[in-house]
Amino acid sequence: MRRAVVRAVARPTPRVLRVTVAGPELADLPVVAPDGYMKLFFPRPDEVEPHLPPLVDDDGDAPDITGWFRRYLAMPDDLRPPMRTFTLRQRREDPVEIDVDFVLHDEGPARDWALRAAPGEHLAFTGPYGLYAPRDEHDGIVLAGDETAVPAIGAIVEALPPGRRATVLASVRDVTEQQTWASAGDVTTHWTTPDTLAERLRALTFPGERPYVWLAGEASEVRAMRRHVVRERGVDKRDVCFTGYWRRGRTEEQEVRAAIDGTAESAED
Ligand SMILES: Cc1cc2nc3c(=O)[nH]c(=O)nc-3n(C[C@H](O)[C@H](O)[C@H](O)COP(=O)(O)OP(=O)(O)OC[C@H]3O[C@@H](n4cnc5c(N)ncnc54)[C@H](O)[C@@H]3O)c2cc1C
Repeated sequence: MRRAVVRAVARPTPRVLRVTVAGPELADLPVVAPDGYMKLFFPRPDEVEPHLPPLVDDDGDAPDITGWFRRYLAMPDDLRPPMRTFTLRQRREDPVEIDVDFVLHDEGPARDWALRAAPGEHLAFTGPYGLYAPRDEHDGIVLAGDETAVPAIGAIVEALPPGRRATVLASVRDVTEQQTWASAGDVTTHWTTPDTLAERLRALTFPGERPYVWLAGEASEVRAMRRHVVRERGVDKRDVCFTGYWRRGRTEEQEVRAAIDGTAESAED
């Protein structure tokens, strides 16, 4: 768990707030895959810093992740900090500072915190943890996702090695949300709107003979896109990295509780 302080806030597009955080606890922040994400803990509106769950068991051992979530959920309601997951969009060194892009959707504690974030505001986080892991046998990359996946897609595109073929399909609300990225890779980018993401994926030409497919966005849409890629395109399951970034009508806390209770929907099909 690391604590950080807001250094700057910018607005790269009308619906995105880019919050830059820094602080001494970021000095040894590990470098992970380019889609690295963090669990952010926000102070409540009346607090300066978030209350944090106990980090170690009573016997001094570091808790496993499930135990850690249980401890987080067991915190009293009036102390438990809102926790949400966000991508480490960009990192700079000496001293380490990182950018997080918050998409401003309709409601939620992360969105509310981003709107009130200003230099000097505090937050805490765990991570980063990365998932994107193409292997040598992959001769093309497909990146598809909605507006919440755009920060990770941008980070992956910017990290592509020279000449790496990649096709991006990203949905945003309108043209003012489209971004441009510098890349050493050979990248073709298609922008679409949220209602046509799945349909555009069906029509997409995948690069290479054996592409690595990375999918992220609303959970049920990701599930449908993965089903198409595996069942209809015949892509090997091991070549598909897919993550539900949010679920319509549910908060992350409800999702975590469902995962621990064993009542969460499987993302597999
Ligand atoms: C690995 C990972 C990386 C992520 N990276 C990013 C990132 O870099 N930037 C980013 O903006 N998000 C990112 N997300 C998604 C983000 O965690 C969720 O959108 C989260 O729900 C936002 O929290 P909130 O407090 O604003 O809303 P919540 O309190 O979680 O949700 C409130 C309501 O809004 C709905 N909702 C949540 N997100 C959206 C949305 N985008 N559009 C419409 N309705 C929504 C929920 O279904 C719920 O009904 C990431 C998620 C994961 C798992």
